[in-house]
Amino acid sequence: MENCVFCKIIAGEIPSAKVYEDGEIVIFKDINPLAKVHLLCVPKEHYKTVAELNAAREAVLGRALKTIGTLAPTLGLGDGFRLVVNQGETAGQTVPHLHIHILGGEPLKWE
Ligand code: 5GP
Ligand code: ZN
Repeated sequence: MENCVFCKIIAGEIPSAKVYEDGEIVIFKDINPLAKVHLLCVPKEHYKTVAELNAAREAVLGRALKTIGTLAPTLGLGDGFRLVVNQGETAGQTVPHLHIHILGGEPLKWE
């Protein structure tokens, strides 16, 4: 998708600090971390919200969650972490390519 920053990261056109990649997803450090550890797990396919899910995308997201759980101890997230998926501009989504924020590495407040 033209002009999508995450598509450009996936294509290697914009550098990122990748911590994991497979054929379906990439996980890299958020450029503006809101916690000690702040990663973004991004499916390689471009779509904006869960309203656009289909069976294949659901399966990718399911495997993405499993991968996050498996990798968590090696990413400094072993004591607990938070997953956030902003949906739409009203909720604060600024990049229109579905992504899972992974926040942790320190105690997190819920306010
Ligand atoms: P959203 O606000 O859409 O839920 O989250 C988008 C996230 O992408 C933000 O936390 C923002 O800091 C991050 N971000 C935006 N542009 C870049 C970039 O070029 N590189 C990286 N690593 N993160 C980015
Ligand atoms: Zn995209």
